[in-house]
Amino acid sequence: MSVGPREWEKSLTIKCRFCGGPKCKRCSEYAALLKIDSPIKGLHADWVTDSILGMMRPSTRLMQTYRIAEQFTRLKIKAVFNLTIPGEHPHCGDGNGPSGFPYDPETDLMAQKIEFYNFGWEDMTSPNVVLMLDITTVMASVLAQGYKVAVHCHAGYGRTGLAIACTLVFQHGISAQEAIQIVRRGRPGSIQTHGQVAFVGRFHDHLRQSKLVFAIPTIHDRFSLQIALERERQQFHATPSSTSMVLPPKIISYLCTQVESWASKDALILCMAFIAHVPATTYTIPIQAHLQMVLGCDATLDLFLEHSLDSDELTQIKIQMNSGETNWPRDSTKPIFAGLLLDWLEHLNPPLLDQINDIALLNKAPLTVLRTLERIIDVLRKLKEFAASVVCDELLDALYTRAVMAILQIPSLRARTFLPQIKALVESNWGCPSPLNLSMRIQQELILNVPETKLFEGEKPARLLPSTSL
Ligand SMILES: [Zn+2]
Repeated sequence: MSVGPREWEKSLTIKCRFCGGPKCKRCSEYAALLKIDSPIKGLHADWVTDSILGMMRPSTRLMQTYRIAEQFTRLKIKAVFNLTIPGEHPHCGDGNGPSGFPYDPETDLMAQKIEFYNFGWEDMTSPNVVLMLDITTVMASVLAQGYKVAVHCHAGYGRTGLAIACTLVFQHGISAQEAIQIVRRGRPGSIQTHGQVAFVGRFHDHLRQSKLVFAIPTIHDRFSLQIALERERQQFHATPSSTSMVLPPKIISYLCTQVESWASKDALILCMAFIAHVPATTYTIPIQAHLQMVLGCDATLDLFLEHSLDSDELTQIKIQMNSGETNWPRDSTKPIFAGLLLDWLEHLNPPLLDQINDIALLNKAPLTVLRTLERIIDVLRKLKEFAASVVCDELLDALYTRAVMAILQIPSLRARTFLPQIKALVESNWGCPSPLNLSMRIQQELILNVPETKLFEGEKPARLLPSTSL
């Protein structure tokens, strides 16, 4: 496929003359030879770290003259990252070939067993966060295999420095400032604009935010199920699921599994902790008043109070889980997971569901919502099974009431009015309706037609999971 200069690139003739045309001070042999200590003969290059090389754009002529692919192989460089847009800077250095670049990725690199990745964006600017996440994910995965990589744009300073700095932030969790310092030490003059410097900071903040599992009141804004899923996708570097493979958030699967495992150990204590857990973020109410309303009677509250969970202790666990530590707690001497499950549902904004009266309407909710609900209903079924011999019907009603409070985020008195509906869901064989059997083509269209939601100020919207209605 041949890519010639496009309309807007015609203006680049002037820009290219400005950088020196065939003697371009950024991408020509002349520029390459000026750097006598370059680790790659024939290219202006620097090792930014032990395993990441920043360099100017190569050309077929230079690659052949200086056997650059062989030099790469000798240095264990397994992949070349090209951050330019095909067709850019067509009139400087050795000019562009039919690939739109001064070299042919297939014959000059891939035929020599060197991987080639093109993630281009415009010169002197920053990309959107989603593109940078793709770049850093791929680069980090090549590096994780013990290989080295070479990164280039036009001169190998601006976009190259930016991508390397972001990869260092992504890989090592260091600050934006530290990453920029490392890059500039390795390749002086790197990261050219204030915008690019600021971008590294934004990228760092974004990565940190993507690790958020729990919104801590007064610190974080509450977030939606869809944002939680999108963050998980970035955190775990998963590809967006196809419509046939929608899963509940990992945090829900994890908490539900932990609750079930406690239920199998001590169903009574778990039920009491679950019922006694006061909603953390929707509204505050003293625990005695909460218990009286959920239980609907003046039962002996002492036992519930004894097994209620300490919200400060839960907050400490949430902060720990927010730190990006994916090694979430497995064991506890208290049924803390019941409280974490309720808190997680109760900090969703909007609530998981807005009604459970009308099953037909409920079944039209997005698949992600239905999968999450299905997992919670499953937990209630297990609790009912485990608790059957130890709890009375009133206690079971209180358990369902507390679950409805969390799912719909409503007060206990209203939640009690939905007892028949929640019982019907638990006791019937309700499950998430299976997705339609869609052809690959229709699935592809659905994914492409996902409405774009603005997630990050000033950025191009991220791709979101398809919220297919059935
Ligand atoms: Zn040039």
